[in-house]
Amino acid sequence: MSIADNLRQVRDTIPPHVTLVAVSKYHPAESIRQAYDAGQRLFAESRVQELLAKQPQLPDDIHWHFIGHLQTNKVRHLIGHTTLIESVDTIRLLNLIDAESYNAGIITRVLLQIHIAAEETKFGFSPTDLLDYFNTRQFENLRATHICGLMAMATNTDDDSRIAADFNQAARLFDTIRATPGLIGFDTLSMGMSDDRRQAIAAGSTMVRVGTAIFGPRQY
Ligand SMILES: *Cc1c(COP(=O)(O)O)cnc(C)c1O
Repeated sequence: MSIADNLRQVRDTIPPHVTLVAVSKYHPAESIRQAYDAGQRLFAESRVQELLAKQPQLPDDIHWHFIGHLQTNKVRHLIGHTTLIESVDTIRLLNLIDAESYNAGIITRVLLQIHIAAEETKFGFSPTDLLDYFNTRQFENLRATHICGLMAMATNTDDDSRIAADFNQAARLFDTIRATPGLIGFDTLSMGMSDDRRQAIAAGSTMVRVGTAIFGPRQY
């Protein structure tokens, strides 16, 4: 199956209100080009150097999302190169993105990553810290950053009920935070990957991040 065929099949499983992000990390620019030629314009990368290396090789109407763990010393290099940074996982990182964006005279759009999965290895805000951030209205201190919503990953397991529970928890948090008075443009819930996108969409995802089902296995 070609990348174009895979893309068509994946699209057929996604309702119109859900945005498809093609996760192109570890795949060459040539593969991205094939997806582009099949109509895809939104891609995601997980490493800053890789994103910056691929960008100039590809058409400039591509929208790039960043979905990897972002080290603070890479923030300055990344801002201005993304439509959305989905993986903001600490207040410190958020405030740094804000300061660098302000200095650069741009607005950076971000999602806050929540840690709901059972694995210790995953990054993200705890639900408590996240609710506290909004309840204490710290978001009002941001000058050049727009928080567009949340990103979540479910536990990596074959247990469907566990996956559904993780996504439902993320969806409840999203709804709670969205009801914060004065919070504007908080409308994106990014959850669901190749293997669990159906459950994520059923739980209320508005954005899925699909790599393997489009591009095949990654060569690390
Ligand atoms: C790699 C990655 C994906 C895509 O995973 P697939 O299983 O290949 O679809 C989605 N989200 C994040 C945060 C990732 O790092």
